[in-house]
Amino acid sequence: MRTKKVKAAGRFGARYGTRVRKKIAQVESTQRTKQECSFCKGTAKRIAAGIWQCKKCDKKFTGHAYYLKKEE
Ligand SMILES: [Zn+2]
Repeated sequence: MRTKKVKAAGRFGARYGTRVRKKIAQVESTQRTKQECSFCKGTAKRIAAGIWQCKKCDKKFTGHAYYLKKEE
């Protein structure tokens, strides 16, 4: 369930505490935004933490664990 306070992390109910739930909500929302391949500007998919593969040029490369480019 989504909540106003912790968004999609509301699915954890009252468990784990508000801080970690806020953190996971933030990480998950960054993950859901489009991640851009730095070679061809295509869409990159996260294979594992820090490992990304581009759908367009099929290159495999490293980046941040949950996102490629941090939006300020
Ligand atoms: Zn690419």
